[in-house]
Amino acid sequence: MIGFNVPPYIGTEMKYIEEAVAKNHKICGDGPFTKRCNAWLEKKTGTAKALLTTSCTHATEMAALLADIKEGDEIIMPSYTFVSTADAFVLRGAVPVFVDIRPDTMNIDETKIEEAITEKTKAIVPVHYAGVSCEMDKIMELAEKYHLTVIEDAAQGIMSTYKGRALGTIGDYGCFSFHETKNYSMGEGGALLIRDPKNVERAEIIREKGTNRAKFFRGQIDKYTWVDAGSSYLPGDMNAAYLMAQLDAADVIFEDRMRSWNLYKELLTPLAEEEKVELPHIPEGCTHNAHMFYMKAKNLEERTKLIDYLKENGVQAVFHYIPLHTAPAGQRFGRFHGEDVYTTKESERLMRLPMYYGLKEEEVRYVASKIIEFYSR
Ligand SMILES: *Cc1c(COP(=O)(O)O)cnc(C)c1O
Repeated sequence: MIGFNVPPYIGTEMKYIEEAVAKNHKICGDGPFTKRCNAWLEKKTGTAKALLTTSCTHATEMAALLADIKEGDEIIMPSYTFVSTADAFVLRGAVPVFVDIRPDTMNIDETKIEEAITEKTKAIVPVHYAGVSCEMDKIMELAEKYHLTVIEDAAQGIMSTYKGRALGTIGDYGCFSFHETKNYSMGEGGALLIRDPKNVERAEIIREKGTNRAKFFRGQIDKYTWVDAGSSYLPGDMNAAYLMAQLDAADVIFEDRMRSWNLYKELLTPLAEEEKVELPHIPEGCTHNAHMFYMKAKNLEERTKLIDYLKENGVQAVFHYIPLHTAPAGQRFGRFHGEDVYTTKESERLMRLPMYYGLKEEEVRYVASKIIEFYSR
């Protein structure tokens, strides 16, 4: 069986974890490995500040707190996304306002955002699906015009760029995920990227249960105290050690995934040229990180048959998000602005192929050959 995902494992992780436990004697949050991860992310992305968190969901919750999202505020986002994108704001009493996606990238359609903006709109949350950027220039222009906060759900977007800038660094806040299904992992984990230095201090306070503990440890104050509302959003240093091993090998993982991605693309292009399937589109000015290789069948029925056919042949291919506005909680908490032209239709056609660090060339060839076989029967 060629599984859909295998969590990344480089081989140096245990050594790093042992160092955290037996050498550093520091396994709670903000130990040496957490600091190294933060510094690595800052250097790699160019953001003012990166803070490791317990998940991307939590990084988004922090961003919602930092943006002072309140009951009744409206937050513009795509419906084709993971639940966390909406949850972080629903927890603050806000209303997710879903906008249709573009069929070519499955990202929010930037041309449909403006008409969804009301007096109550507070933020736009672009989701960079498959690690391919949304049209950020347009989104930032709207944010400026209407004084909105931009929180990038860059859960899948580490190592991707938009016009030379790292995803997660363009909006006010960016959120990465290091869940085991992502390119780089720590089991469960994430990071909050903060663009403006003026927002860093409050972020540190929110992450540390509302205390100014970070300032205390830097020796800037002589005792720490409770100064604001907050929670505990910092991961233990053992998890950070696992991640650091992978960040130190970031290019190795990146290139390995990219080889598989490019090979899928090459092998399936003839099917796309015959208009039997559609393959991912990378807009000009964007570089991606091979987070996901997806393809689109003609419709739901064909996709179901293809997934079954691959399963019979030992390949696990999977579909992805059920649009949030069609889910029970989405109906209760949010609303769809305008017409759902592509969100439902395209989500029903899309399927993801096995993609992980260490996927073998012959496995990619086998998966592609079975897809080609399916369409030639
Ligand atoms: C994975 C993912 C998340 C959630 O990440 P966690 O680290 O599991 O909280 C949020 N949004 C998107 C788009 C994701 O792919």
